[in-house]
Amino acid sequence: MTDCLFCRIVKGEIPAKKVYEDEHTLAFEDINPQAPTHVLVVPRKHISGLKEAQSEDAELIGRLHLAAAAIGRQRGIEDGYRTVLNVGPKSGQSVFHIHVHLIGGREMRWPPG
Ligand code: AMP
Ligand code: ZN
Repeated sequence: MTDCLFCRIVKGEIPAKKVYEDEHTLAFEDINPQAPTHVLVVPRKHISGLKEAQSEDAELIGRLHLAAAAIGRQRGIEDGYRTVLNVGPKSGQSVFHIHVHLIGGREMRWPPG
C-alpha cells in the first residue's frame, strides 16, 4: 500500500523514532504521545485493522502484543501499562494499518474515554 502512512514508515520513506524491530514487526514512538511511554507496534505486512484480519494473521497479531510486552519490560513500566487497538472510526482509529498502542508510565483510568 503506497499511500499508507505506516507502510511508508515500515519502508523507511517517512522517518520515525524506532524503538524495536524484528522480522515481522516494527515499533516507534507515537508522534502525539498521550503518556510518558506511547509506542505504536505495527506489522510489516499491511492489514487495515482488526476487523479486516484473517485467521492467517493470528500469529502476527500475537506478535504485536508480545513486542509491546517486550518494550514494556525494557522500559520498566510493568507495574501498569495498557495495550490499545482502536477499531473503526468511532473508536478513534485514524490510521488504517493495524497497530497496537503501548501506553504507560503514568496512572491509568478506567473505563477509557
Ligand atoms: P489510531 O488513532 O488508533 O489510528 O492511532 C494512530 C496514531 O498514530 C495516533 O496516536 C497518532 O498520533 C499516530 N501517528 C500519526 N502519524 C504518525 C507519524 N507520522 N509517526 C508516529 N505516529 C503517528
Ligand atoms: Zn499499511
